[in-house]
Amino acid sequence: MTDLSALSPVPSGSRAAVLKFYFGPMDCGKSTLALQMNYNHSRQGRRGLVLTKHDRSGGPRVTSRIGLGLEAVEVVDGLDLAELVRGHDRIDYVICDEACFYTVEQIEQLADLVDEHGVDVYAFGLASDFRSVMFPAAQRLFELADEVCRLQVEVLCWCGRPGLLNGRIVGGALVRTGEQVVIGDTDASPVRYQVLCRRHHRAGLLGEGMPV
Ligand SMILES: [Zn+2]
Repeated sequence: MTDLSALSPVPSGSRAAVLKFYFGPMDCGKSTLALQMNYNHSRQGRRGLVLTKHDRSGGPRVTSRIGLGLEAVEVVDGLDLAELVRGHDRIDYVICDEACFYTVEQIEQLADLVDEHGVDVYAFGLASDFRSVMFPAAQRLFELADEVCRLQVEVLCWCGRPGLLNGRIVGGALVRTGEQVVIGDTDASPVRYQVLCRRHHRAGLLGEGMPV
């Protein structure tokens, strides 16, 4: 019913949709949680859309390190996410994996979806890059989200402390300069990433006998 009275001041279409941002370092289970979230919502009959960018599979899929996977829409820079969702019949929620790699404009579009269209948006991603500097999209999510959640699925630094930051390693050494986004951890790439505690990220210490 869209009947409005003094007792129902909230206009229809502005029900309490939410923008949530779940962040954490690599391997903390972000994509696994994204897939679980999609499963939980879809089994309740809600209709969703799953987006990703630069997934580890190299394709338009959300894949988790523990072996789950799902087809997804690949987010490219010029893609209008509000238009994308409006182009579908009825979307109740959107799962945005790897949201740290989206453009700031796309984060604004996600906020529009929540506020103008009552679509729930669940975004997952890294907060900071290999220098420990925030990704612009992640920063905008921190600024706009209704709720921000640090995921800490006990991903540990080699020293045993909680892993908080992603180190970029080239030729066996931690680097602090370079492009913000470089795909690593593939056979073709000389770049790899390692989760470190703050102390060892700042000190550039990768641990004794760690594989390079
Ligand atoms: Zn450490």
